[in-house]
Amino acid sequence: MNQYNSNTSHSQKISLKNPIDFRSDTVTLPSNEMLECIENARLGDDVYGEDQEVNDLQKYAAKLLDKEAALFFPSGTQSNLTAMLSHCQRGDEVLIGKNYHTNVYEARGVSVLGGVGICPIETSASGSMNIEDMLNQIKDDDPHYAVTKLLCLENTFSGQVQPQSELDELAKEAHSKKLKVHLDGARLFNAHIKTGLSMKQLTDSFDSVSICLSKGLGAPLGSLLVADQETIDKAHRLRKMLGGGMRQVGVIAACGMFALKNNIQRLQEDHDNAKLLAKGLSSFEEMSVDFGESQTNMVFVNCPEPHRKPLEKFLLEREIIISNLDRGRLVCHLGIKEKDILFVIDAFREYFKESA
Ligand SMILES: *Cc1c(COP(=O)(O)O)cnc(C)c1O
Repeated sequence: MNQYNSNTSHSQKISLKNPIDFRSDTVTLPSNEMLECIENARLGDDVYGEDQEVNDLQKYAAKLLDKEAALFFPSGTQSNLTAMLSHCQRGDEVLIGKNYHTNVYEARGVSVLGGVGICPIETSASGSMNIEDMLNQIKDDDPHYAVTKLLCLENTFSGQVQPQSELDELAKEAHSKKLKVHLDGARLFNAHIKTGLSMKQLTDSFDSVSICLSKGLGAPLGSLLVADQETIDKAHRLRKMLGGGMRQVGVIAACGMFALKNNIQRLQEDHDNAKLLAKGLSSFEEMSVDFGESQTNMVFVNCPEPHRKPLEKFLLEREIIISNLDRGRLVCHLGIKEKDILFVIDAFREYFKESA
């Protein structure tokens, strides 16, 4: 049984038996195999560094991204925040793409808690940042200005893979100005599968990278910050300060390890399903569908205002959960199979036939 919080009212819960939930790839539930990993986890107190599952996961992730060390976090927000605080002091400044998660959806923690200013940089709809725009915001050494210390990039952005040559060039230019560069790679494995680039190729240019285990990879929670040993040592103290020191957290780390070992290659299925869904929905003239060349697992849709509420309701009666059809984002993940996509396209067809 799944409790769906209708987005119109958080107190109004609808019980669904077997929903097809497109709101995010974070809604996945742990598989039976993942739950078995929890049962068999070798636990200890991770604040003492004694949880074998956590230690193994951190080692595995560092190797996977070809960096020296990794640190386990409860969320991507805490991982990104800790990374930014590791690279910056109070009074420093971080350059972030205006629409990136670290600028918009992390409650400005780096400013509130760290005294670090954010300088937002314009980005295109596909998420790319112009090198000149970035360079123009790096402040001169002048007492009037904050000290620009860090550039924060994101891949994938709204499901779209960023051209690697652009990211590498941005990082190179930032490094030449003595900045550190952090990558918010919440969905970096989607980029790996889409491009065929190795994780090393995707992460080589960055001083630190944050990855999420609870997006497409299907773990119930958890993120990893991956970097050089010195950065991770700083991050370790900061994580404790932020309240992220966890005890027998191997119960979660074991799920994360299962996710890294078993759920990366299958992301191709999500990309195929998103493509199939985009193709199906674009056959309805009422729907405008955005699914570009660089897109991985997300389909963006829009439909005329009068259809939005009735269509959402019609779909919900069929246990299909889509929120905000005005700027609708349909996210494919391991809880959604090809047959579900076909079922959903049929439901849209039925709706538009009835409403005609
Ligand atoms: C989900 C996400 C994060 C981390 O979010 P949490 O919910 O804190 O795990 C960071 N960046 C991007 C781009 C994300 O999609």
